[in-house]
Amino acid sequence: MKLLDTFVAKVIESSDYTKDDIFYLTNRILALVGEDNAQQETAQTELIALKDELVDLAVANGKVGELAEEKDCLGAELMNFMTPIPSQVNKNFWETYAQSPQKAISEFYDLSKRNDYIKVAAIAKNIAFTTPSDYGDMEITINLSKPEKDPKAIAAAKLAKASSYPKCQLCMENEGYQGRINHPARANHRIIRMDLADEKWGFQYSPYAYFNEHCIVLNTQHVPMVISQDTFAQLLDIVDIFPGYFAGSNSDLPIVGGSILTHNHYQGGRHVFPMEMAELTQQFTFKDFPDVTAGIVNWPMSVIRLRGENKSRLVQLAEVIRLAWRDYSDVQVDVLAYTDDTPHHTVTPIARKRNGLFELDIVLRDNHTSKEHPDGVYHPHADVQHIKKENIGLIEVMGLAILPPRLKDELVEVEKYVLNQYNEMADYHKDWADAIKADHPGANQETVSEIVKQAVGQTFVRVLEDAGVYKGDEQGQAAFMRFVESVGVE
Ligand SMILES: [Zn+2]
Repeated sequence: MKLLDTFVAKVIESSDYTKDDIFYLTNRILALVGEDNAQQETAQTELIALKDELVDLAVANGKVGELAEEKDCLGAELMNFMTPIPSQVNKNFWETYAQSPQKAISEFYDLSKRNDYIKVAAIAKNIAFTTPSDYGDMEITINLSKPEKDPKAIAAAKLAKASSYPKCQLCMENEGYQGRINHPARANHRIIRMDLADEKWGFQYSPYAYFNEHCIVLNTQHVPMVISQDTFAQLLDIVDIFPGYFAGSNSDLPIVGGSILTHNHYQGGRHVFPMEMAELTQQFTFKDFPDVTAGIVNWPMSVIRLRGENKSRLVQLAEVIRLAWRDYSDVQVDVLAYTDDTPHHTVTPIARKRNGLFELDIVLRDNHTSKEHPDGVYHPHADVQHIKKENIGLIEVMGLAILPPRLKDELVEVEKYVLNQYNEMADYHKDWADAIKADHPGANQETVSEIVKQAVGQTFVRVLEDAGVYKGDEQGQAAFMRFVESVGVE
């Protein structure tokens, strides 16, 4: 089989192009990859694999640089041929949606995978396992999907001209963007337009998904993250529009927020997180809201769960709780709403629909710092930062750890240390590794990997407990109820 012919045939098979477009497609692709050896023999039959060969050919022909970022730009451009234009993707989506929401969603998800926008092969490299805990089974992922930056790419990015277009990776202007050394290739990127609580928003999938059908919902304007009454309304609208999806928002303050605070966005997907399965430990009814079931969730972080039939009633109550929390301090348990004029309190909200009822989980957050905990009183403390020192954002809050790629190699060294073998374990793992050794004196070659994994899982539980404003002990839970009562219960 000839490489270019096979790719063109596959594009035609996967798109609205027809046989009459063969010359046109062939020539447009030759312009991108160069004419030398374009019809070399190939054993590949899949579009993405054929695309990869064409990109390598373009590098050999001097049509594109050899850095991964440069190759990605051409790769996305090649996959753009089989991707309908944005207006057509939107028309298809909403026409199908009117017949079957499920079908519209799965077709768009499928397109986002087939056109190589979602990096399926890279995501498969992640290491994932679960750990039992007092709160249910936690999910742990060591994130290996994002390729490590080549030092040459880092150097090239430093030399690249500064650009503020698109303003960030979550801006609508990314749709179709060519990409460059310091901004991802988006020629094959498509965004679904939709209305949420009377505002226009965009819907897309995450290229490096952390869980099934991981999506991002974007404000169409480059405006900062802000949690307000609209947030609750919009999250509940998302779970109404996308049956089976949850939707949540990172909070809007540093330390307790996500990595991008500059562009308002939500995340969602089709995945049942450990937090969703956690039961209520206390139940109560908030004053004036007899129609909403409320309670505290058995979870290392401080979560109030609201459940009811009526979206707008949940929105109203969530806003009452958010405003109460914003100004609430409790010195007995180191809960601090303000330092001078700087606010410390916000929430991480998560919405879902279960058994016909709407649910909102309101996770209380406090980002104040102290002498003892300069990174944040409710941030992973120093003794667990060897595993996780990044912010505890929405996904982690729900019980799915996203751990840094460095751990893949570091944990192998920890295993050798536990087995008293020669190792190059980093010093910052020593106390932890000594504790593992003491707990598992009989660890051997067969069992050590699982022992270390489970210890990572237990450390993640500690990380979440650090991030929890109200601790699980009697004093903490009594303080939690003081806050609930200050909001007003019947
Ligand atoms: Zn933006």
